[in-house]
Parts: sequence; structure tokens; C-alpha cells
Amino acid sequence: SVALFESKLGDNLFKGTLGKREKDAHKGTYGKVGIIAGSKGMCGSAYLCSNSAFKTGSGLVYNIVSENILDIMSIKFIEPIVKSFEYDRDMLEFLKGLDAVAIGPGIGLTSSNENMLSEVLEIDKPMVVDADGLTLLSKNISLLKSRTPYTTVLTPHLGEFSRLIKKDILEIEEQREKLAVEFARECKCTLLLKGNNTIVTNGEDTYINNTGNPGMATAGSGDVLTGIVVSLLGRGFKTYRAASVGCYIHGLAGDYARDKVGEESMVASDILNNISSAIE
Ligand code: AMP
Ligand code: MG
Repeated sequence: SVALFESKLGDNLFKGTLGKREKDAHKGTYGKVGIIAGSKGMCGSAYLCSNSAFKTGSGLVYNIVSENILDIMSIKFIEPIVKSFEYDRDMLEFLKGLDAVAIGPGIGLTSSNENMLSEVLEIDKPMVVDADGLTLLSKNISLLKSRTPYTTVLTPHLGEFSRLIKKDILEIEEQREKLAVEFARECKCTLLLKGNNTIVTNGEDTYINNTGNPGMATAGSGDVLTGIVVSLLGRGFKTYRAASVGCYIHGLAGDYARDKVGEESMVASDILNNISSAIE
């Protein structure tokens, strides 16, 4: 509606950030990204994450899944290329050739995924770790500490952050920002702590996001955010910038979705379908 359009235009925080697409752009110009997401019963997280990366401008998105859903995802997807993690022995080499990687949404908490995560985190590329990837990471945080400083974005909600820092949620809620800043500084990463007024911090600078609404508290919402952030990393944004701009776009897409379908009925694919309005 006009009202929403005007109020959001009035904000203008990141206007022009994405720039104008180059006339002679090719599919690689705005980034090739790999997304390790989904498993049996969690195909939707792969769908939401990979399609969100496309909607944010990536030219090539590879969705890497476990072998048992390769065929299902091949039918479900149109634009993403589907690859199986187990099947391709050269998968790690393949990932090294991409611009950015996301790992975690809906992958499941298996021990083989624990091994996969540790191998993937050794790849020296900008990376987003989310969801099950964070829960697996919380068993061995040194995997994060041994990465090149400030090349990783972690996107926990309060429950995932609680597992990462081994404090209970009530304690975190009392001092969200302080604990977020300390964690980012200690682990030399960009932390995006989700919720109303999402906090993005690299331990030095901190951004508090003001877009979004409670309609976004719905399954799959975070998977959309991960796709947006990895896409921005893929086009060359540094982690702190990708995370700040990413949660701003994600929240704004949620605000456009609310305008069309309302907070109660909003589902994650409504957020995905409004990334374009947010970017415009
Ligand atoms: P997840 O829990 O991983 O699905 O992520 C949920 C997403 O929705 C995050 O980006 C949150 O910041 C966002 N979200 C959830 N609840 C709210 C809320 N009450 N207000 C604004 N954003 C929210
Ligand atoms: Mg999530």
C-alpha cells in the first residue's frame, strides 16, 4: 500500500547499497553461492534459502543436499543447481571455487553432518552458519576460532545462541547486546542475533535493525534470511555489511508481506516473495 511504501522510503537507511546492475553482467558477476541445507522432511528450508539467494541477486546458486533428497529437490527447484554432498567426492574442492557458502538450515543433527561441518568450515571462503549448523558448531566452537578472522556470519536465534555460549535464555535476554558483542569479539566473527530488533555485531561496531514484525515468527523465516546474507557475501560484501543489510532487507520484505497478507497469515514464502519489493 502507499502508506507502507512511503513510510519505508522515509527510512532510506541502505538506499543504493546494491548499486545498479552492470549492463554487461554475466551470471558470475554478482556471485556464485553454495547452500548446504535441507534433509528428508526439511526440504522447505533448502527451497526457501536457495530461492532467497536468487531473489537477492546471485547469478548462480548451488544447493547441496544429502543424497536421499537429491531427486526430490531436483523436481522442487527450477533455478538452483542441485548437488549431493555424499555423491560428489570432490565437493569440498567444488565449494572452494564459489564466492560464498551457507551451511545449516534443516540439515539435521547427525554425526556425519558434524564431520561435514568441520570440513566445510576449513574452507577459506566467506560463510554463513545457521540453524542445525549452529547447534553442531556449539559442540566444538574451536572450528570457528580457527577460521580466518571476520569471514564468518553466525545467525542464531536466542535458543541457538544459548547453546553457543552455554548460558540460559533468561540470562541472555537481560543483556543481549553485551553478550553478543563479547561473543563476536572473542570468536572474531559477525554475529547476527535474531528477534525483534535483531542485533548485528562484529565486536567493534553494532547495528540494531528496525525492520520486521512479529508475523515473521513463523517456520522457515530464518532460512530466508540465510539466503539473503549468503547472497550479499557472494557479491563481495564484508560479513558485517552483509549481515546488517541482509537483516534490513529481510525485515523490510516481511513488512511488505504483512501489508499484503497480514501478520497472522504470513508464511516464510511470503517473505521470500517480497524480497524484490524490499530491494526495489
Ligand atoms: P528463525 O527462528 O531462524 O526462523 O528466524 C526467525 C526470523 O524472523 C529472524 O530473522 C527473526 O529476526 C525474525 N523474527 C522473529 N520474530 C520476530 C519479531 N517478533 N519481530 C521481528 N522479527 C522477528
Ligand atoms: Mg532458523
